[in-house]
Amino acid sequence: MSKIEWKPDALEELKKVPGFVRPMARRAVESYVRERGRTTATAEDVQAARDQHIRFAEDDKSAAKKTRIAIVRCETVAEVCPGVACFKAFNQRHAHFAQYDKNTEIIGFFTCGGCSGRRVSRMVDKLVDHGLDVVHLSSCLLLEGDYPRCPHKAQIKKNIEAKGIRVVEGTHH
Ligand code: SF4
Repeated sequence: MSKIEWKPDALEELKKVPGFVRPMARRAVESYVRERGRTTATAEDVQAARDQHIRFAEDDKSAAKKTRIAIVRCETVAEVCPGVACFKAFNQRHAHFAQYDKNTEIIGFFTCGGCSGRRVSRMVDKLVDHGLDVVHLSSCLLLEGDYPRCPHKAQIKKNIEAKGIRVVEGTHH
């Protein structure tokens, strides 16, 4: 993939994009430039890509005030669980979701990728670009019973927190 050079005026234009969608905007501009067979981004490219690809996100007036959360769950348990209890608890703001008001949304629901949780870091990186605030470790990842307790929970939590994202232990109980 060709590297895109950014002209100074393009970088200035990019700074006008709200911070919570700026990484998304940067990628949109670079795709826009590549699709046109060029390798240099101009201020006009930023304006065009912004209009085409991210204005919808900026125009969401309440977007900056929303709390955006994601849930990571156990790959093994996910074989038998569609996640109903997690979503039900969130929709009713029950248990570990009681702290959120109605201006909160789930933007991600993913499994850890199997021991030792190799998918988590990459998923969180993607969601950070979309304004992620909090990751919940699902209740199945915390409990011990039919399945053994997750031996990697502490490291999974540490990896998420290292990205500046708050971690809450638990979902529906
Ligand atoms: S790392 Fe933990 S949560 Fe992920 S599959 Fe293994 S036991 Fe389950």
